[in-house]
Amino acid sequence: MPSPSVEDYIKAIYKAHARSGSVATQELAERLRVSAPAVSKMMRKLSALKLITHAPYQGVKLTRAGEKLALEIIRHHRLIELYLVQAMGFTWDSVHEEAERLEHHISEEFEDRIDELLGHPTACPHGDPIPTRAGTIAPTSNLPLAQQRSPARLIVRRVSDEDAELLRHFEALGVTPGTAIELLTQEPFEGALVLEVAGKRVRLTPQAAREVFVDALGEES
Ligand SMILES: [Zn+2]
Ligand SMILES: [Zn+2]
Repeated sequence: MPSPSVEDYIKAIYKAHARSGSVATQELAERLRVSAPAVSKMMRKLSALKLITHAPYQGVKLTRAGEKLALEIIRHHRLIELYLVQAMGFTWDSVHEEAERLEHHISEEFEDRIDELLGHPTACPHGDPIPTRAGTIAPTSNLPLAQQRSPARLIVRRVSDEDAELLRHFEALGVTPGTAIELLTQEPFEGALVLEVAGKRVRLTPQAAREVFVDALGEES
């Protein structure tokens, strides 16, 4: 595996921040599978490029330039995923890896063509919002299904896209973005979540349910 690029780091920092509001260099080392000294070295480089600020004991923050770069790469990633599914017949469990590679290589013109061809889409196949070209992104759910209390009527907004086997599992159960589901109960001792999906009862382990993000559905819908 080639060593992670500036873009990989910027994206990892952005995602860690979106998940937990802070970025520990230890977490970056784990996510990018590199050593702590390698992360420190890259942090100095990113600071010099004015993509991050890194104050002692305050962690890492993206500058506006860093955030714009992150959103640009994420825009590439999500547009490419959707293009692979809609135009090339890839399945949703196979596109993340492809997009991880291609996202660093397409031009702005290529990006615009995909965007136009797909009719200016707003979400990738996994439900993640596609940032605009201007560098803004729509808010989305950060509420894991695993943390919801039963009974509840919910809508699936997005699912984690990194585990292909898990994506096939979600698809087999019908747990896909835009689907309304009912959380009926959770089996005792942190057991499976029992859901109703399209009229069928399905069970989901808490581990899998941590990778599904939902919003509550109001009474009217
Ligand atoms: Zn992806
Ligand atoms: Zn995706």
